[in-house]
Amino acid sequence: MFCIEYARVFTVGFTMCYQKNVITKKEIIDGLRHQYFVNHYQPIYNVESESLSGVEVLLRFNSPLLGSVSPYFFIELAEKENLINDLFFFSANQAMKDLNNNHKLKKISINISPTTLNIPNLYRWLRDKCKEYFLSNECVTLEITENVEYVETKTSCENIKNLKLLGFGLSIDDFGTGYSSLSRLKAIPFDELKIDKMFIENVTTSYSDQIIIEHLVCLTKSMGLQVVAEGIEDLETYNILKEIGVDLCQGYFFHKPMDINKLVNKV
Ligand code: C2E
Ligand code: CA
Ligand code: CA
Repeated sequence: MFCIEYARVFTVGFTMCYQKNVITKKEIIDGLRHQYFVNHYQPIYNVESESLSGVEVLLRFNSPLLGSVSPYFFIELAEKENLINDLFFFSANQAMKDLNNNHKLKKISINISPTTLNIPNLYRWLRDKCKEYFLSNECVTLEITENVEYVETKTSCENIKNLKLLGFGLSIDDFGTGYSSLSRLKAIPFDELKIDKMFIENVTTSYSDQIIIEHLVCLTKSMGLQVVAEGIEDLETYNILKEIGVDLCQGYFFHKPMDINKLVNKV
């Protein structure tokens, strides 16, 4: 049984075919209770200064049976089973604690589902956590992911307004895919836009992807936002994006996501 399950996850692995249900609701609940979830961190680099700008927090489920499982296999389920907010609180708290212990990480970008923006007084929780860990609010950016639609509510607007006033960064993630679109760009006062890796991966061969990125960078900069390119896997891609003028870069070419112990030895 163990071998079959193991093979199921790792043969389909990141192709994400049909195996989104490898993790069950019970495993998520047990995982939160027994600390099977762990934050991994991926460095983000500033192109102009060629130095570390911060790290993105990427959650992993360390299953006793399956090993390290990507969020592609549990975020959707967590969303469906109303566990996404518990994952956020766990991940954000751990990330802020890690940043407090390792100031050279500089800044953290935490993925947040639009669902979580509907928690009343979420901004207070984040503000209080920053106080608890002696961090300035400016060190924390929230990457709003595209997996569910952002529906404007009184609570989400209040959270966004106050997060912005308090100095937290707001980033629109996966731009150009799913629900992450121009209308969302209009609805929320973002500081940063992340171009989805879908547009980055073929930039060396696809002229149309290059044109899309050039125009996105132009649009984003004229709105006063920073642009991040994720999913950079080689030097050629990096050089093209540098030439186009993206501000920040992230990808396997620099570093894969890693646990905190590995990270502090690398940066
Ligand atoms: P994302 O936010 O777009 O994160 C980027 C994903 O691309 C990560 O996958 C990262 O490991 C991967 N990646 C980074 N560089 C490269 C590269 O050069 N090449 C390729 N092929 N991939 C690269 P990961 O860690 O499996 O996360 C998948 C998605 O799960 C994330 O996509 C994000 O939407 C979501 N996610 C991760 N952690 C959390 C979380 O704590 N909360 C929520 N709500 N969503 C999360
Ligand atoms: Ca992200
Ligand atoms: Ca993405």
